[in-house]
Amino acid sequence: MSISEKIQKIKKELPTGVDLVAVSKTQSHSKIKEAYDSGHKVFGENKVQELTEKYEKLPKNIRWHMIGHLQKNKVKYIAPFVDLIHAVDSEKLLKEIDKRAQQNNRIIDCLLQIHIAAESTKFGLSENEANEILLRKEEYKNVNIRGLMGMATFTNNNNKIKEEFDFLSSIFKKYDYFNTLSMGMSGDYKIAINCGSTMVRIGSTIFGARNY
Ligand SMILES: *Cc1c(COP(=O)(O)O)cnc(C)c1O
Repeated sequence: MSISEKIQKIKKELPTGVDLVAVSKTQSHSKIKEAYDSGHKVFGENKVQELTEKYEKLPKNIRWHMIGHLQKNKVKYIAPFVDLIHAVDSEKLLKEIDKRAQQNNRIIDCLLQIHIAAESTKFGLSENEANEILLRKEEYKNVNIRGLMGMATFTNNNNKIKEEFDFLSSIFKKYDYFNTLSMGMSGDYKIAINCGSTMVRIGSTIFGARNY
């Protein structure tokens, strides 16, 4: 199947209200262009340098999502154009995004990343830490916290994945102003959708294996 056929196939499977982020990290400009030409406009990257380079070279109406861990000192490079930052994992980072958004006369959409996996290597806030930040969200006028993001444990145990996604979904439902729950990747997006995901981030199923 071609890239565009794979995208169409996935889009047909997604229920209404679930958006697709095509995760294009490490993939070539030509592969991204192929997906773009088939009508898909939302792409996700996890490295600032790669994201800014692709932003410069590829069509300007692509909506670029930053899905990876973001360092404070790199926010300034993506603040002029980024469409959604998925992995806000500290208040200091949120504050920096707010400052850079203001300098660019923008309001930047953000998601708080919640740590739901068993692995300690994955980033994210606890539920309490997220609650604390949300209590002060009015202080950050140039960011719009639209919802939550999380990554499940890398495991074949679907029950474990489901438990983690259910937990994230239960936090999401406590905030009536949230509209975006980013959870689910190539290996687990069907489980994520059953647990209430509104945004799936799919890379290898669309573009094939990554070469690092
Ligand atoms: C790479 C990545 C994805 C996509 O992973 P696939 O398994 O290739 O679909 C999704 N989310 C994040 C945060 C990623 O870094």
